[in-house]
Amino acid sequence: MPIPLLDLTQQYHDIQPEIDAAIRRVLESGHFILGPEVKALEEEVAAYLHLDHGVGVASGTDALVLALRALDIGPGDEVIVPAFTFFATAGAVLHVGAKPVLVDIELDTYSIDLEQTEKAITSNTRAIIPVHLYGHPADMGAICEIAHKHGLKIIEDNAQAFGAEYQGKKTGALGDIACLSFFPSKNLGAYGDAGMVVTDNATLADRVRRLRAHGWQKKYFPLELGYNSRLDALQAAILQVKLPHVDEWNANRRKAAELYHQGLAGTGIVVPQEKPGCTHVYHQFVIRSPQRDILRQTLQSAGIGTDIYYPQPLHLTEPLKELGYAPGAFPRSEQAVREALALPIFPELRGEQQDQVIEQILRFQKS
Ligand SMILES: *Cc1c(COP(=O)(O)O)cnc(C)c1O
Repeated sequence: MPIPLLDLTQQYHDIQPEIDAAIRRVLESGHFILGPEVKALEEEVAAYLHLDHGVGVASGTDALVLALRALDIGPGDEVIVPAFTFFATAGAVLHVGAKPVLVDIELDTYSIDLEQTEKAITSNTRAIIPVHLYGHPADMGAICEIAHKHGLKIIEDNAQAFGAEYQGKKTGALGDIACLSFFPSKNLGAYGDAGMVVTDNATLADRVRRLRAHGWQKKYFPLELGYNSRLDALQAAILQVKLPHVDEWNANRRKAAELYHQGLAGTGIVVPQEKPGCTHVYHQFVIRSPQRDILRQTLQSAGIGTDIYYPQPLHLTEPLKELGYAPGAFPRSEQAVREALALPIFPELRGEQQDQVIEQILRFQKS
């Protein structure tokens, strides 16, 4: 039996009666955009993160754009972003007319390099976007210190780390404002595109609420240029069913990660780390190997699904070429691009399946 990188159908079957009832409830209500379902989800997610405000939006990417707009970041401003992340982290900065300033990552956690972050600050820098990549928290204590010292805002990209903790606090509650993605494959995933902006700041929350609906101060009366980036009631109802399960699902991901750690110890494969004070929620279990491409082929031949997050560092992507970074500018990001490989991980993954993955990797390493 093939082992997929990710299987979302099993989880649906586990909670099918609740999901089906939630969908029916929305269909019967005749209310499909924003409304009470979205409001309820916003309150539940904010409460989960111990924050005051959640604003449901159409995607995680839009959450980033709206957070930047809410902070009045635009043309002439610079925002510091890691060179190794999902493209949207930097794409959002371009979308608001500001300049993404890239810095390399640290290879042990794949999060933004602190020394380079501080060096990249200029008089135009307005914010830092740390990314909790693969589900591991960035070093927020140090990042907050840098931001505070230089008067910068922190926008957490928490798309991959819903439920993760840093020194006892949830990621997404550590900066000025945070962006969540409920893309179906994320740790808390909808059945379509969905996202949220979360913050303790009422002014920022109100601004995002206005921007997500055409910039309307009241209906049909725009106060500023906004977007159509509203969350669907159907997705909100589905996410309300899933939210109470997310801690258990994350615990299952952590157990699966533990099995991989045991099975791959001493093989020469670089496994993910969990730093002291951090709770990794393993959105992805990403290993590194200099033989990544052949290893991937070998696993594929054995029916094991893997993927490469990410196959290109941001500075070499077409839309960011105009920034003028050369190949080699961010060696650690480029090494991660060459060597990183995501293994199957999801809450329903079975131990026997993982044993097969481990066995294939061990065999490859010995050959
Ligand atoms: C998924 C993701 C996003 C974007 O979220 P969408 O909901 O797909 O728009 C942004 N940043 C990171 C790091 C992501 O993984």
